[in-house]
Amino acid sequence: MAKRIRREADFQPELRKNLVTREWVIIAKGRGTRPSDFVGEAESERLPEHDDNCPFCVGNEAMTPPEVFAVRDGGPPNSAGWSVRVIPNKFAALHRTGSERVRHTGVHSARDGFGAHEVIIESPVHNKDLWEMDVGQIESVIEAYRQRYLAFESGEPLRHVLIFRNHGPKAGTSLAHPHSQLIASPVLPHQLQVELQGAAAYWEYLGKCAFCALVENEKEAGERTVLDTDHFLVVTAYAGRYPFETWILPKRHAIQFAAMSEAEAEDLARVLRELLGKLAGCLNRPSYNFAIHTVPSAEHNVRAYHWHMEIFPRITTLGGFELGSDIYINVVAPEDAARYLREARVPPTS
Ligand SMILES: [Zn+2]
Ligand SMILES: [Zn+2]
Ligand SMILES: [Zn+2]
Repeated sequence: MAKRIRREADFQPELRKNLVTREWVIIAKGRGTRPSDFVGEAESERLPEHDDNCPFCVGNEAMTPPEVFAVRDGGPPNSAGWSVRVIPNKFAALHRTGSERVRHTGVHSARDGFGAHEVIIESPVHNKDLWEMDVGQIESVIEAYRQRYLAFESGEPLRHVLIFRNHGPKAGTSLAHPHSQLIASPVLPHQLQVELQGAAAYWEYLGKCAFCALVENEKEAGERTVLDTDHFLVVTAYAGRYPFETWILPKRHAIQFAAMSEAEAEDLARVLRELLGKLAGCLNRPSYNFAIHTVPSAEHNVRAYHWHMEIFPRITTLGGFELGSDIYINVVAPEDAARYLREARVPPTS
């Protein structure tokens, strides 16, 4: 269990605003926190490399629905020989069948839970987190993400696709085998709508992309920078909702994740490995989630958008204030978090 993080009585809290969504957060902890103030014990003992009962392990392909995509060196579909495998989720949140019609009952509106829910199995090996894989393997995972976005972009009546990853018990994982998920839905999530509107408004008033402005500003400020590579700037979020909330921002203005070049994909694989490794080193292998924010090209105001990734370590729990107000209290100053991540070492991988 993570220790309870107390706020400092003598620290003047600060309200900070997210420049894209215009949401406020409270940064409630001054400088001088140590990572040991908020890390818990490592959450899992070492798992075996292969688990005979795991449906995602190599050799157990028959335990899952047939694959929809795979990166493979050989062998027919649904047999061994793959390095990344994408399958429909057996316990899907949304189903492939249903009508798109909206129904009204009294004051209420509903529609069929039509959509898609897929699992991206990131490795044939059971016991490695993403950062423990080699860069080539992570590149294959990124290629699978790209291919699934492209597949849904062409010829699906679904409006939105989110790829995300849950790692560890506090992040909602049900299976230990390394995997991420994709949910495609006929509706646009509220958070993305807010980001789209915010980015469009910023463009309208200031004539440029909010995310490009953020990259420029954060590069210059430096105090929230974790990594600065050829193609990406990794920063702790200025108005982060969660302690150690970190954003991966592409330096090139690009609306969609799937439009990434080969050089960018290779750099992103290195960035993910380094960043997730640093989080593991700094916070003792915490549970975490990440999500890719990108939009379908058919969306309005799409010119102003700039894809990015948001990473949320799960070291605190939400309370009544967060749930009741949607204003988050972040107990670690993002500048402290960035400094600890810069200094953190990636644990050795074998
Ligand atoms: Zn497995
Ligand atoms: Zn931009
Ligand atoms: Zn976002």
